[in-house]
Amino acid sequence: MSIAGNVGLKDLPRICPLISRRVQSLSDATDTRVVQVGPVRFGGARPVVIAGPCAVESRAQTLAVARAVKAVGADMLRGGAFKPRTSPHDFQGLGLEGLRILREASNETGLPVVTEVMDPRLVETVAKYADMLQIGSRNMQNYPLLIEAGKSGKPVLLKRGMAASLCEWLGAAEYVAKEGNLEIVLCERGIKAYPSGEYSRNVLDLNVIPAVKAETFLPVIVDPSHATGVASMVESASCAAIESGSHGLIIEVACDPEGAGKPKCDAAQAISPHTLRNIVRFIDAREESHSLRKAHVV
Ligand code: PEP
Ligand code: MN
Repeated sequence: MSIAGNVGLKDLPRICPLISRRVQSLSDATDTRVVQVGPVRFGGARPVVIAGPCAVESRAQTLAVARAVKAVGADMLRGGAFKPRTSPHDFQGLGLEGLRILREASNETGLPVVTEVMDPRLVETVAKYADMLQIGSRNMQNYPLLIEAGKSGKPVLLKRGMAASLCEWLGAAEYVAKEGNLEIVLCERGIKAYPSGEYSRNVLDLNVIPAVKAETFLPVIVDPSHATGVASMVESASCAAIESGSHGLIIEVACDPEGAGKPKCDAAQAISPHTLRNIVRFIDAREESHSLRKAHVV
């Protein structure tokens, strides 16, 4: 009797030849293909920090968070206008109005903006307002959506499905690449694995970062907010992600998250601008010590 066996890393050259490092060798096996969003470079010399609210709730809230994250050193703005919520009775986002607000906040601060698109029919609309399209965890294998995002020509932030293997995740990225769009950034956001839910929302899979880097030249970032679901865990998870080789972070921030600025969505994981500043300082200090070390070697 022969058993077909599971799909494994050995199958990646067949599943995703366009993004497989083993098929498309760059000049150097450690090279990452830089994905540029305006002045922001994913996979460049310095990790990228994307920060902003979970959801765009109002113009005032979004502008305040955008200004605050810019002031403490974020490189890019995030915010959901179309929110994937467990209950259809919960706040679903402001939709088109949310996109307009994000565009205004981006123009004012100079921070490029990434926002989620859930519906293939809305890709063109979202692409008019956003600098980068986010495909959320729940939609990682929504193939018509991936194809439309590929056709849009916009850079794509592809979150890992909450129970997706590396092969499934890279297979999803291949759908975008097959449309001629290699402007893809992968994002690890925690997976459902025992004991997720007990003390944190998900399990942050830091091991996947070196694995992604071994298999593809696409940059990979980490979302410590959805990975932990707990504001007090976000700073250490961020630092651990950077130490594991992440090319950046995407973090949910609120002004005064436990007080007047308590978000409607994912309140427990929102950090303050002050905590975001600590994370940016960690990156600054790390970059500085690396360049000092290099200067001594030369
Ligand atoms: C988000 O980043 O807004 C989000 C909903 O994340 P995820 O798709 O990872 O759950
Ligand atoms: Mn959220």
